[in-house]
Amino acid sequence: SDHEEKAHFVLVPVMAQGHTIPMLDMARLLAGRGAAVTFVTTPLNFARIKSLADSVANSGLPIHFLPLRFPCAECGLPDGCENIDVLPSSDLLASFWRACAMLREPLASHLRHNSPAPPTCIISDTGHPWTGDVAREFGIPRLSFPCFGAFAALVRHVMYRFKIFENVADENEPVSVPYLPHRFELAKAKAPGNFGGPGTDKFREAALAEERRADGIVVNTFDDLEASYVDAYGKIAGKKIWTVGPLSLCNRSVGETAARGRASDVDVGHCLRWLDSKKHGSVVYVSFGSLARTMPGQLIQVGLGLEASERPFVWVIKAGDRFAEVEEWLKAEGFEERVKDRGLIINGWAPQAAILSHPAVGGFMTHCGWNSTLEGVAAGLPMITWPHFGEQFLNETLIVESLKVGVPVGVQQMTQWGAENAQVFIKKDDVETAVGKLMDEGEEGEERRRRARELGEKARRAMEEGGSSYENTKLLIREIQAKNVHVDGKLTV
Ligand code: UDP
Repeated sequence: SDHEEKAHFVLVPVMAQGHTIPMLDMARLLAGRGAAVTFVTTPLNFARIKSLADSVANSGLPIHFLPLRFPCAECGLPDGCENIDVLPSSDLLASFWRACAMLREPLASHLRHNSPAPPTCIISDTGHPWTGDVAREFGIPRLSFPCFGAFAALVRHVMYRFKIFENVADENEPVSVPYLPHRFELAKAKAPGNFGGPGTDKFREAALAEERRADGIVVNTFDDLEASYVDAYGKIAGKKIWTVGPLSLCNRSVGETAARGRASDVDVGHCLRWLDSKKHGSVVYVSFGSLARTMPGQLIQVGLGLEASERPFVWVIKAGDRFAEVEEWLKAEGFEERVKDRGLIINGWAPQAAILSHPAVGGFMTHCGWNSTLEGVAAGLPMITWPHFGEQFLNETLIVESLKVGVPVGVQQMTQWGAENAQVFIKKDDVETAVGKLMDEGEEGEERRRRARELGEKARRAMEEGGSSYENTKLLIREIQAKNVHVDGKLTV
């Protein structure tokens, strides 16, 4: 029947905002192009995306949300710890990964007994190696989704596979990374993997080993952005790579909300009206994503630097940043009063997508999470790079050195996730200098803006009919439908 011939993708994101959001976009992308999708989630994560799920249902897109009970108690996690952003400390990450792996049998059982159509492909986060077993049980391909850009995924692949830091005693000593299209040196202190927590090494090893068994890799990037890295990654990993991004630009009409992954904590209309009152390209948007925890002492320096820059700004301070303490300072010092005409402070989850695409925004101070990076690129914005952990330093390198659309604020060390005594690395003056440089109207600033705008146009073209990501998505669906992707990662045609 028709139903059986249709490609049916099972999508399994890691339960963290930065991982779930692009997978949701991918669900809408694939479903909007004729494939059926089962989207694996958990009850509390499903509640967060309820309004999106409702509008998907109303639009008639064939996406089935599958909330599987998350085994917190069995794994020693506090009740309700279904997302990395609510883990009390990185000490519990290993338990979190263990709980994820326990979703294997419930998922397989659903696919065996309750799925309206048999699955034809699993696309799962690289962090979910257990999905490889599910795919093998059903004899279907599993495509790994790194949730990184191609450059960062390539560097991670090479650094673990060839153990490039094995004999390096000093973690600040730069080591040459082989198999890249150009010379590149990286210090262990700035390499992905430090965001771990005790006991997580074996999970990472399992994830990377399973990536090497995957039947292909799907990357949220586009060829004009990272062609040489996509190429090198495909060669060294020996895999077919589908570039399908920027996923944030897909299906804007279906279930589009200003905030991504969960409802905004502020009134979107208010933010947009505030931006409407500002000059074109004059506002700096400052956000450090969902996981990075920036200590109050460091945030105060951000505030002072923004004030000294004399530019208008939107500044997001999230719950994990101990907003109450920062707010106390903001009030006690009269900061809010002093900047009230040109500073909008958002406490909680901001409507980032809407803000970035508003014409008043002219620059983005970002922690260089991959989604934020791509969203900045897609919005055609130059960026101030402030990496915190994980692969964010690699994204900074891409933004600043390869794409030349960034000004580094000057971070030299990882922020240990959840560390209470994190030092203040960046001072008010560093912030002020970086903002001044980014927003400068001189030749250097103009050149940077021109390059950023050009990348934004290329990003949009990639997702339009005839564009590279558009065509790759079409091929991916067609190849899965025709069962051309072998379960050994090779293509038949
Ligand atoms: N985001 C948002 N509102 C916020 C903070 C983040 O909508 O207040 C979205 C942002 O647009 C991006 C994602 O959350 O899509 C964050 O992902 P990223 O990879 O940048 O960083 P992470 O959260 O993983 O550190």
